[in-house]
Amino acid sequence: MKYRHSVAQSADYLRLAVKRMAQQEAGLHPISYAIWYEYVASLNPDLQTAIDARLKESGKLDEETTCALFHKHVAELDAKTAMRIGNSVSHLVDQVSESAIDAGHQASRFGSSLESWSETLSQPAGGVTGGLAPGVEDILRGTREMQKAISTLQDRLEDSSREARVLREEVARAREEALLDALTGLVNRKGFDLAMAACLQQQPATVPGPCLLMIDLDAFKRINDSHGHPFGDRVLATVGEILRANIKGKDTAARYGGEEFAVILPQTPRGGALGLAEALRALVAASRVKSGGTSETMIGNITVSIGVADHVAGESAAEFILRADRALYAAKAQGRNRVALAPRPTTEAGR
Ligand code: GH3
Ligand code: MG
Ligand code: MG
Repeated sequence: MKYRHSVAQSADYLRLAVKRMAQQEAGLHPISYAIWYEYVASLNPDLQTAIDARLKESGKLDEETTCALFHKHVAELDAKTAMRIGNSVSHLVDQVSESAIDAGHQASRFGSSLESWSETLSQPAGGVTGGLAPGVEDILRGTREMQKAISTLQDRLEDSSREARVLREEVARAREEALLDALTGLVNRKGFDLAMAACLQQQPATVPGPCLLMIDLDAFKRINDSHGHPFGDRVLATVGEILRANIKGKDTAARYGGEEFAVILPQTPRGGALGLAEALRALVAASRVKSGGTSETMIGNITVSIGVADHVAGESAAEFILRADRALYAAKAQGRNRVALAPRPTTEAGR
């Protein structure tokens, strides 16, 4: 994390950055903010030199230059930081919008009272229409100009606010996509690690579980060799669908790696986990996948072996996974297309 400033310090930089952002042609969005924050905080000498050169050349930074500078000098910004910046910019934009709306209301109230005051002044008691008091017309014109400027500012802030919201949504979507496996649509290994950590951290003491299923396709190398890699990919997608269709609620199905899957069952006791594992095994064994050749025949004989472990109190994620993995290899050793349950560690036996 390269932004290590205190709240007070970063608030100072924020004010300075916003001032510089407002002087440019580019929108007031997180990308603008990122380059100007780094500029005013003197975090990035190359960026500073590049900005100074562009300002000297063309006076203001436009959208294209701002984005180019961002990609060249700040792009290693991680998704989390971008999200934080997005949030703080939209928060700031919202706050400034509110102030602008207040200022707009005040100006219009002031304008109305000036107008009625000038009407009174221009109709003296004698009934003869007199001219406006010197200067009042100027004040009125000035007020109208101010109202117009505030309404333009409000429009611009609304645009920026919308833009900040869209960017924030895009960052959130990109983060989500980074945790998904493209072939099966299940979460990938990273998503699995996060789900496992959350599961072990949040597990209430009163509910059974969690349990873990480690699932590996049997003789998958031979399936690939016999029918081709694209067929192998369709088999993986089919197994992914079977897993997705048969888990529920808080369960997570993941593609753990190559031809290996995992299912986390946060609140399922051992018996339920074994039952699900057996059902999944049978569904895969009964599945048929299109060969994809000209004959379009359906190919069967696809099987998986499954290792099941139920978590013991205090066990780390790594130990838990290792036990399920050992059970998986026991299932393979027993002849494949079967389910094996991991023994509980000896110190926990009989609990
Ligand atoms: P076992 O029953 O012992 O698990 O045998 P296996 O052949 O399944 O295991 P092995 O580890 O020898 O081979 C796994 C194969 O899985 C090899 C690899 O090419 C294939 N594989 C891994 N990822 C993918 C993928 O994304 N698509 C396809 N089509 N094949 C893959
Ligand atoms: Mg395998
Ligand atoms: Mg394997």
